[in-house]
Amino acid sequence: MRTAEIKRRFLAHFENNGHTVVPSAPLPFDDPNLLFVNAGMVQFKPYLLGQVTPPFPRATSVQKCVRTPDIDEVGKTSRHGTFFQMNGNFSFGDYFKEGAITLAWELATKSVEDGGFGMDPEKLWPTVYLDDDEAYDIWHRVVGVPADRIQRRGKADNFWSMGVPGPCGPCSEIFVDRGPEYGAEGGPEVDEDRYMEFWNLVFMQNLRGPGTGKENFEIVGDLPAKNIDTGMGLERVAAYLQGVDNLYEIDEVWPILDKASELTGKRYGASTSHVASESHPDDVRLRVVADHVRTGLMLIGDGVTPSNEGRGYVLRRILRRAVRAVRLLGYDKPAMPELLPVARDCMSPSYPELATDYERISQYAYGEEEAFLATLKAGTTILDVAVEETRKSGGSTLSGAKAFQLHDTYGFPIDLTLEIAAEQGLAVDEDGFRRLMTEQRTRAKADAQARKTGHADTSAYRAVLDSGGAVEFTGYAEVSREAR
Ligand code: ATP
Ligand code: MG
Ligand code: MG
Ligand code: MG
Repeated sequence: MRTAEIKRRFLAHFENNGHTVVPSAPLPFDDPNLLFVNAGMVQFKPYLLGQVTPPFPRATSVQKCVRTPDIDEVGKTSRHGTFFQMNGNFSFGDYFKEGAITLAWELATKSVEDGGFGMDPEKLWPTVYLDDDEAYDIWHRVVGVPADRIQRRGKADNFWSMGVPGPCGPCSEIFVDRGPEYGAEGGPEVDEDRYMEFWNLVFMQNLRGPGTGKENFEIVGDLPAKNIDTGMGLERVAAYLQGVDNLYEIDEVWPILDKASELTGKRYGASTSHVASESHPDDVRLRVVADHVRTGLMLIGDGVTPSNEGRGYVLRRILRRAVRAVRLLGYDKPAMPELLPVARDCMSPSYPELATDYERISQYAYGEEEAFLATLKAGTTILDVAVEETRKSGGSTLSGAKAFQLHDTYGFPIDLTLEIAAEQGLAVDEDGFRRLMTEQRTRAKADAQARKTGHADTSAYRAVLDSGGAVEFTGYAEVSREAR
């Protein structure tokens, strides 16, 4: 079943059950805690928090999401993309646990002929929060899932909050058993690759007290109006229904991967295992290329442009990672003009603006690649020599001074130096590097201050920024882990 068809069936199912279809919010959404929308509920927060009266009691959407904290998982697990689409249904004080569970179950297990996903009920494993007997009983008594296929899990996995005092509640997740070739038996508690999570049902019913993180807090009360927030990973369901190993092989992503393979001459499928974590490095790189090119396309499509801070820096880093992966696969010419049109053709049936706006989108992506290739060319030779010298002198750590010189003179970002050094088995003296960066900043500020003549002169500081970009990359850490 094609991804577009899964999306259509999802919306139709919930529309037929009284939900208003709401379009996706743009990825860079106006939310102080987020760089990008990372869940379907983000645009509905004012309703869920009771700040605004919802115009409808039930809603459904397919939300574009970007989760940069998942970037290191890409290609190494079967189920994490930096960009993905979250199908959701929401109840604002309307139906609660039984409604959410039975609506999800119905769509997942209804036959393909009747408009469902046709999943085998015996392969589905729900989880519930430790003491959520209510959800357990619905799964067991109403739906009829045998007790040995319902697992209870703690706060880390099955309790949702926004990390601050406010609404919170237990969740129930649905996993599908992909079979012994994907890992060990025993349910999601044992192996989350074999048992793939595809749907999270959040029951907002409590009030969270102060505390930190996902686990260290008390539940201090009950909410007067209870809400439902669910998220189903479109790409994960597509991977399962299309019978492929991971979400980089589905219809909306595979053509990009395939093109990257053709371009670099690296055949995909060098690893024989179905388990993503056991993959050959080239297979991982091809997946990274496919994922990142698509994410870049979607971000620029929604108005993000490469820059040295905030959202623009996340985009820059994603595009550069894609370019680096292509180079590591052995292709050193510009690849974006080959890959981006393929990504556009995969995604524009659902997002036609990607085709009509392609001229603008491609200019940013191609320009970023060209600039980065020039940087790479200048810096790589210097870095290679430095690595060689470090080795010869018997050291295992590249000096902070060298990393600083690469950054300062050649515009080589520190994360790239770290990555390349690590590939060569070397560490980098990051503390030394940061000390030099701070010294330089202080100097630049002092200079600017000294030259100040009635109006602010920030040119020296600007020059530092322009020479290679913001160094303290906080983009990933900034992304709130709410709704996860
Ligand atoms: P996981 O534990 O596998 O990282 P999650 O618990 O972080 O997933 P949720 O926050 O519950 O995910 O998001 C709801 C749904 O969105 C998930 O059940 C999954 O289907 C999908 N999803 C989450 N993260 C990703 C991702 N990085 N790429 C693709 N789909 C995702
Ligand atoms: Mg999970
Ligand atoms: Mg989850
Ligand atoms: Mg996650």
